[in-house]
Amino acid sequence: MPLPDRRLLVDPEAGIAPEAAGEPDAPIQKPKRGRTRKLADLEIADKVQPLKPAAPPPKPVDKLAKLGLKSDIDLVLHLPMRYEDETSITPIGHLIPGDNTQTEGVVFDNEIAYRPRRQLLVKMHDDAGDELTLRFLNFYGSQVKQMAIGVRLRVRGDVRGGFFGMEMVHPQVRPVDEDTPLPQALTPVYPSTAGVSQAYLRKAIDSALSRVHLPELLPEKIARAHLQPLNVPGLLDAVKTLHHPHADSDENALIDGTHPAWTRIKFEELLAQQLSLKRAHEERRTRAAPMMPRLHDAPESLVARFLATLPFKLTGAQERVCAEISGELTLPHPMQRLLQGDVGSGKTIVAALAAAQAIDAGYQAALMAPTEILAEQHARKLRAWLEPLGVTVAWLAGSLKAKEKRAALEAAASGAAQLVIGTHAIIQDAVEFARLGFAIIDEQHRFGVAQRLALRAKAQNAGDGAQNFQPHQLMMSATPIPRTLAMTYYADLDVSTIDELPPGRTPILTKLVSDNRRDEVIARVREAALTGRQVYWVCPLIEESETLQLQTAVETYETLAAALPELRIGLVHGRLPPAEKGAVMDAFSRAEVQLLVATTVIEVGVDVPNASLMVIEHAERFGLAQLHQLRGRVGRGSAASVCVLMYAGPLSQTARARLQTMRETADGFEIARRDLEIRGPGEFLGARQSGAAMLRFASLENDGWLIEPARAAADQMLAQFPEAVTNHLARWLGAREQYLKA
Ligand code: ADP
Ligand code: MG
Repeated sequence: MPLPDRRLLVDPEAGIAPEAAGEPDAPIQKPKRGRTRKLADLEIADKVQPLKPAAPPPKPVDKLAKLGLKSDIDLVLHLPMRYEDETSITPIGHLIPGDNTQTEGVVFDNEIAYRPRRQLLVKMHDDAGDELTLRFLNFYGSQVKQMAIGVRLRVRGDVRGGFFGMEMVHPQVRPVDEDTPLPQALTPVYPSTAGVSQAYLRKAIDSALSRVHLPELLPEKIARAHLQPLNVPGLLDAVKTLHHPHADSDENALIDGTHPAWTRIKFEELLAQQLSLKRAHEERRTRAAPMMPRLHDAPESLVARFLATLPFKLTGAQERVCAEISGELTLPHPMQRLLQGDVGSGKTIVAALAAAQAIDAGYQAALMAPTEILAEQHARKLRAWLEPLGVTVAWLAGSLKAKEKRAALEAAASGAAQLVIGTHAIIQDAVEFARLGFAIIDEQHRFGVAQRLALRAKAQNAGDGAQNFQPHQLMMSATPIPRTLAMTYYADLDVSTIDELPPGRTPILTKLVSDNRRDEVIARVREAALTGRQVYWVCPLIEESETLQLQTAVETYETLAAALPELRIGLVHGRLPPAEKGAVMDAFSRAEVQLLVATTVIEVGVDVPNASLMVIEHAERFGLAQLHQLRGRVGRGSAASVCVLMYAGPLSQTARARLQTMRETADGFEIARRDLEIRGPGEFLGARQSGAAMLRFASLENDGWLIEPARAAADQMLAQFPEAVTNHLARWLGAREQYLKA
């Protein structure tokens, strides 16, 4: 494709276009001192004229650096986020209300009106004599002057049929001459930030385009095998097309991202992402970790004795993932494995068995959970399993008294504690481990990358001085991730999946009930409690205000206590002092409390098999994953369980979709799939997941089909063209790559 003329005319010495420096992205700019041309003129002018060297702007490079644009390649790969069609002018007489259109005319009236409020009204007409009003509710004096009577304006905006005829409110405006040419192609609109105007960016990018060569980096063989089938243009071609679409290119495809030029870019980007994740994965195999032999068959080993006392038989799925984990712990490289399994699938025992293997090998294990309630549940369970076998377990949480805390810290530092269980408290500076060899992170998505790194750093001295020593890591999650997502977000992790629930679970019946049937629900609660079952009542989520949420929880508790005087009722929420929280939870697990009123603090981990009825108030405010987690607190025993989702109408479309999903399925994988459909992957996983941070152009919603080819290409490139890998990563990720060093 031929270059538009203007780029050939750009003065290479001018470098990054200086004239536009310091201009925010507004349609019309106040002229700066020492400048004779206005930006609006410039936008047109620079398309047909070479840049004139001007006074040096205040550090233009810094502005671009804000956008992460440091080199010509960065600039050239800074691709438009959308396009505007300014290639044609619609006569005023042909404007259609509701359309976003460009038109042109000459100002014949310009006044500031004060009713109904202060506003600038500019009237223009075109050669046919048709009139258009431009209305500005916020405006500068300079704008009034710029749209003076007699000036020809090219404007673009949403057309409205106003009381006095056609109008545009706050259109983009640029003064033009009668013979100012129209752009020949769609106008790119770039992602930007405050203080960096489109004109400035465009110029900087065009200037970079004129200098840069952008050679193909993919080896012939890779291109032939993986690119050719996609039928996409060469890289430079693709980039040029995207910056300066040809007048006859498929506009819709450019705009919705399906144009072959986009496909080429997205492939490159996904390839970079896959390479980076895979390389991180490979790099891990060069680091040292303690070898922990499998002693399942040695009768004296902790693992063997633990297995012998296990209160139940492991499911097939548990056996399988145990074998995967156990095998990897024997290797001298750090394991980094995600254990995913639905709520209640029995991940804890799998983690405990792995911890036993670490302890058998003479190392310490640590388990970190996101909330104190959950950590405590783990502590209780693992203590019951392991202490009788002679294992010393230490407990570390923020709520510990100073003396207890000192004791726990000492036990961790001396190595007396073989297993340390706790919350974030585990990763605080004061905590040291004698020989940490294995770290378990429950509900890993609730922790940030930094926290996972901090836990890993605690293992430094575990290798008896060996360098780069890292513990094996097991991350657990009850939010199962569909395959393509796992491939893009977690390509640096190995994944073990428990896809089977322990036997004897009774399916949970989920009911949607409008909250005007509250009395009926309360009657059911009474009936369930009086027949010996236990009940959770989950208070409404109030995201905006924790105080309000707390207040609501207390009120809910009081209302229920008044309505159900014959029941023993407990209240648990996040602000309760830990000792009280613990006492209430204890009482509930001993069935002394029949009805537990709770905030979402019970969302994860709480395990009371006798609880078989759950009421969730304002269920429409919760996310799908959260509802699924909450519901997973019931259905853990043999009694038939019911989950009542109480909602207040009217429901939004997504709330309706969520509640319907909850009623229709209890399968965590299916729920995750639908959640993804409803929310999209960004929100679903949170941007903090490493893989997502690397994608600028490809979206997992629309471009999932490209992942498989990108993966295949990545595998082959890593195996056969290591140098090309390095170059490709430098080009596409640059600084971004550090996101995933976690
Ligand atoms: P999650 O995967 O949600 O963390 P847990 O590990 O808390 O699930 O297990 C849920 C419940 O199932 C616990 O009470 C646990 O003791 C029990 N459990 C786990 N594995 C089995 C099994 N194989 N057979 C019977 N019960 C099991
Ligand atoms: Mg769990």
